[in-house]
Amino acid sequence: MKLYKIMKKPPFFLSASHWMTKEDHPIKSGPNSRQAVIIPLLLIQYGSIRAKAKTMTKLRKYFISSLKEMIVSAKSLKNNPHLGKKEIDAQTLKDMENYVHELGISGIGYTKVNPNYIFNDFEILYDNAIIITMEMKKEPIASSSSLEASKEIFRTYEALGIAVNKIADFLRDRGYDCHPSPAIGGDINTVPTAQDANLGYVGKNGILITPEFGPCVRLAAVFIDVDNLPLAKENEHKWIEAFCKTCNRCVKSCPAGAIYEEPKQLHDGTHVYIDLHKCAPPFSEGCSNCISHCVFTGGNYHKIKEVYEKRNHV
Ligand code: SF4
Ligand code: SF4
Repeated sequence: MKLYKIMKKPPFFLSASHWMTKEDHPIKSGPNSRQAVIIPLLLIQYGSIRAKAKTMTKLRKYFISSLKEMIVSAKSLKNNPHLGKKEIDAQTLKDMENYVHELGISGIGYTKVNPNYIFNDFEILYDNAIIITMEMKKEPIASSSSLEASKEIFRTYEALGIAVNKIADFLRDRGYDCHPSPAIGGDINTVPTAQDANLGYVGKNGILITPEFGPCVRLAAVFIDVDNLPLAKENEHKWIEAFCKTCNRCVKSCPAGAIYEEPKQLHDGTHVYIDLHKCAPPFSEGCSNCISHCVFTGGNYHKIKEVYEKRNHV
């Protein structure tokens, strides 16, 4: 019996839908949207016993804090000012971006949310999205598999949970309605959405590869009721898809053989890259080989692109 397949949504008090009112007009998941995977449940069921014991003691503070931030995000919907402010001026946008970077966020992008990227049976209040990335420090990730790598992954989950709530407060103080969506317990598939926001491109390891930090990032979103965000028009990182076909380093580095050499196509237009059942036991023990071994983790994006283009006469 697959726990994470039975429990398709977080408990009601953690779900944004529970805190929406009759006046809200949420956007529902599209016909081809995929089911959310609640990572802690996956780890509880498939993680190793040794790792579970370690996790409970060493990562407990991150889990508890992430859970608290999920509750804050969901409950905060009732704090929307409902002033009907639908345009953001250049100065406020600049101030928000400066504030976002002060919170330790590495990248920021804007896009419309494809309803098929809203998890099945989930809903969001607005479809204009601010997508944020946060760097995971390379040193602990490079120590994979290790507790240090796990700590860094869950530190960024926690920090992103805090960040989306602070960004939402910042925007609400200026009269905007919004819906923060944390990294753990979020409402959408953030990887293809970040791709739409031109923040990077999904690699064969299933993670967004960014120009700044490669796949060494985690993602989260804030949905906002504003019609004039500077939405990304195209994705300039698409070449990564062809590059990954010639690389396969992450596939070879995976101790569980969990990365598909040929990703599986889904109805929502995205792909499945990882067999989660196979990945969960090593992941619960701090495996992040698919990040640490990725050629982009060294931060050589532009160099790699230059060589690739020369070799392929692009
Ligand atoms: S986290 Fe480890 S086990 Fe999971 S896909 Fe990456 S390399 Fe494989
Ligand atoms: S290791 Fe290679 S194949 Fe895997 S995601 Fe990185 S670039 Fe793509």
